[in-house]
Amino acid sequence: MDFSCEHKPVWVGRIAVAACEECAEVDWFSNQGPVDSSEAMAALFGTYDLLGPLDALGAPCPRVLVYAPPSARKRRNLDALPRCVWLKAGPQLWMSTDGEVLLLATTQPLLFENLIRGA
Ligand SMILES: [Zn+2]
Repeated sequence: MDFSCEHKPVWVGRIAVAACEECAEVDWFSNQGPVDSSEAMAALFGTYDLLGPLDALGAPCPRVLVYAPPSARKRRNLDALPRCVWLKAGPQLWMSTDGEVLLLATTQPLLFENLIRGA
């Protein structure tokens, strides 16, 4: 474990997001303790609209899914994440943002299907 960087949590509703640009890791918490990544992602970005898959360069895998916030208020949830860094959001799942849209990448074809269908 590397203690040279701070993993300072940012509260978004009932979820605390500790996203670290240097470790490319993100941890999710609530008042009750650690929160499962899929539950946290759903709480923060569950209302986002899927714009579609995109061929991506520089991503952990060749295709990513692009999600847009439904409102300016929901867009602010992206502010909890560092910009233009791929973070490990869960097993086989990475996410990134430019502050406007959310990008999800997975190396697991089944998970990719679920992400598409779940939108
Ligand atoms: Zn770190």
